[in-house]
Amino acid sequence: KWAHILKTVKQEYNITDISFKTWLAPLEIFSVQKDTLVILFPTDESNQMSLNYISKKYELPLKVTIAEITGKEYHLQFILPGQATNLKPSDVVSQGHRLADRENFLSSHLNPRYTFDTFVVGANNRFAQTASLAVAESPGQAYNPLFIYGGPGLGKTHLMHAIGNFILQDSPSKKVLYVTSEDFLNEVIESIRNNSSGSMSRFRDKYRTVDILLIDDIQFIIGKESTQEEFFHTFNALHSAGKQIVLTSDRPPKEMETLDTRIRSRFEWGLMADVGSPDYETRMAILRRRCEMDRFSLPDEILDYIASNIKSNIRELEGALNKLIAYSNLEKTTITMEIASRELQNIISPDTPREITPQLIIEMVSEHYQISVDQMISKNRSSAVAKPRQIAMYLCKDMTSSPLEAIGSLLGGRDHSTIIHGANKIADEYNSDEELHKQIDAIRKKLNPS
Ligand code: ADP
Ligand code: MG
Repeated sequence: KWAHILKTVKQEYNITDISFKTWLAPLEIFSVQKDTLVILFPTDESNQMSLNYISKKYELPLKVTIAEITGKEYHLQFILPGQATNLKPSDVVSQGHRLADRENFLSSHLNPRYTFDTFVVGANNRFAQTASLAVAESPGQAYNPLFIYGGPGLGKTHLMHAIGNFILQDSPSKKVLYVTSEDFLNEVIESIRNNSSGSMSRFRDKYRTVDILLIDDIQFIIGKESTQEEFFHTFNALHSAGKQIVLTSDRPPKEMETLDTRIRSRFEWGLMADVGSPDYETRMAILRRRCEMDRFSLPDEILDYIASNIKSNIRELEGALNKLIAYSNLEKTTITMEIASRELQNIISPDTPREITPQLIIEMVSEHYQISVDQMISKNRSSAVAKPRQIAMYLCKDMTSSPLEAIGSLLGGRDHSTIIHGANKIADEYNSDEELHKQIDAIRKKLNPS
């Protein structure tokens, strides 16, 4: 019925395919109260902007259509995944255990799209994939911890979510928690700052009562003393209770020089699995799978062009494909070799040095931290977004000659003093924070490979 309602909205309001796919198709009924429908937009938790947009633009059409079809007027409430837990239990009418499972799923912070089914296996990742599957099938018993490492864009985060999704599919009431190590870090800092006995014990309750803890990009806790300490205790508590721990990192433990040796030895207790760069066949298979999923077809010649030129990062491989899909949808045209090579010029031919613009820096920094450009320019002040934003300010000031006002306006209309402040803050930290130093150098290198 919900699908029928969405289809009707699309028809009656002449909504284009791309708008429908972006805003309406993902919507799910989260719960039904007496006269309120709680509608979930299952996306990244901090995507409040999209949510506001949806309720502004589509609330009325939805309301009207729902009333027409069900004969009843509902008040609509739109929520994002993380907000589901803010609803009071009385807000949610019981739909039996499936709703509880749904809520359990949402509090896991897992991305439902990252599953084993959508993961293409090749020589580069076969070991990591089998290890992950073993862990998913027998959490706490196969390998504990499982430590997955490798370069950016090679599928570590995807595998980690796949483990969590598999476990929840199998046992929907298990408590799975996915966090980035930055989330973890921020929560440690926050509970120390609050300095009330309550906040620390809430933190411990949260992390020590899970069945499966997934911490992504653990390299970010290196050198953060109290976070390492807290992680160490969390690790021990979970491990000795037989709970599964999965970690990812951009490098193996032995290359994490300043890591506390007690922690390093624990990483090495379980199994370490690396993911490497995919070979040509795997790259082609990934592109084909992606096309299939998006019901999009491209001539082999073009798939080959992408796969032969983008070798070491699957995120970039997908990015290239997405760019062509978007182009084809917008221009309502099929993709020719000529269009492909023109549209992918920035991504593919690195020998022609490209101009470093604030726009490019903002895109690169967002990509590096895996946040959207929308988030970069938003008012969001959580450090997972604010930090990359300041790094972009720093790099724009350092690497381009753009006036501060122009940089500010690209970054969501911030004034020049905000830019100076952000840039200076990073400039200070650049000298004192080794990890940040590395990150920034890596971004610089991507911007300017020579
Ligand atoms: P990492 O965490 O190693 O930086 P991700 O897991 O975020 O990389 O992967 C980047 C993108 O590439 C994701 O969209 C992911 O789904 C995709 N991807 C990576 N490896 C594979 C694979 N083997 N099969 C299909 N998609 C993949
Ligand atoms: Mg990742």
